Amino acid sequence: MTTVLERPIVFDSVLATVAAVDDLSPHLRRVTFVAPRIAEAVTAGPDQRIKVLLAPPDGSAIKLPSGPEWYPQWCAQPVEERFIMRTYTVRALRPEVAELDVEFVLHGVNGPASAWVSEARPGDQVGLILPFAVDTTSTKGLLHSGVDYVPPATSVRRVLVADETALPALAGILEQLPAAVHATVFVEVPDARDIRPLPTSGSADVTWITPAGDMSLLEALKCADLPYDADYAWVAGESSMIKSVRRHLVDAVGMPKAAISFQGYWKRGEAQI
Ligand SMILES: Cc1cc2nc3c(=O)[nH]c(=O)nc-3n(C[C@H](O)[C@H](O)[C@H](O)COP(=O)(O)OP(=O)(O)OC[C@H]3O[C@@H](n4cnc5c(N)ncnc54)[C@H](O)[C@@H]3O)c2cc1C
Repeated sequence: MTTVLERPIVFDSVLATVAAVDDLSPHLRRVTFVAPRIAEAVTAGPDQRIKVLLAPPDGSAIKLPSGPEWYPQWCAQPVEERFIMRTYTVRALRPEVAELDVEFVLHGVNGPASAWVSEARPGDQVGLILPFAVDTTSTKGLLHSGVDYVPPATSVRRVLVADETALPALAGILEQLPAAVHATVFVEVPDARDIRPLPTSGSADVTWITPAGDMSLLEALKCADLPYDADYAWVAGESSMIKSVRRHLVDAVGMPKAAISFQGYWKRGEAQI
């Protein structure tokens, strides 16, 4: 079926330079990228996804993709020769200074993106695939623009569940929460030192889950007094976690499936592309 969108959506690649690297906590590192074209980039929402492109395994320089057929061409290349591509969230965009922040989880050197960020220094370069035109006029347009957090305009009681990879998106969602909206939030992080303030312009009850605690994320959800009238949920993080949370929200809490946005950000034991 052909999808007809109201407005054009444009993604394009840029070569970006690392301007700054800041450790926010033991497992979250903020990288500020700069490139002249970032001045023209836009976002469709606080969980805007982008692609980070790293040098191919054979060590050659990144050739930025271009043209409408770049993806099938990339798929057809030998794995050793094609750039490595991973999905991240725009944590902050400052077009006035052509800067963009991404918060990377440091999960070791078993993945190329995590390995890259472990060593990232100002002056390093990566490719980014960024949105330059988005369609915010409809749910369909927003989803095609690369966001999953699309609550209905009438929603006032939301449940937000994230692990550390979705913490950057969650932080942005809470910052932009409308004053009349209440969020019941569960965040799982690998270390209690990754807990940080999550300012919001709405109101929020935040439960942090850490390995040192006595409950898993699912147990914490089961014990929680979730609002009986929750009208929207956004769940993002590890693949098996999001599925079990969704099952609980549907089967035990009684939320309609259509009211839950759930997004796998990574899968334990499997590389992402
Ligand atoms: C829409 C979207 C937005 C995202 N936003 C962010 C973001 O803002 N920040 C961020 O850090 N991540 C984000 N992610 C998740 C990120 O893309 C994955 O964690 C990705 O696997 C990292 O790539 P890698 O090269 O480090 O590891 P991969 O090569 O993909 O995986 C190698 C190994 O590492 C494991 N692994 C991957 N991620 C983790 C982790 N977090 N903890 C422990 N083990 C892991 C895999 O299971 C695999 O065994 C997002 C994903 C999506 C789909």
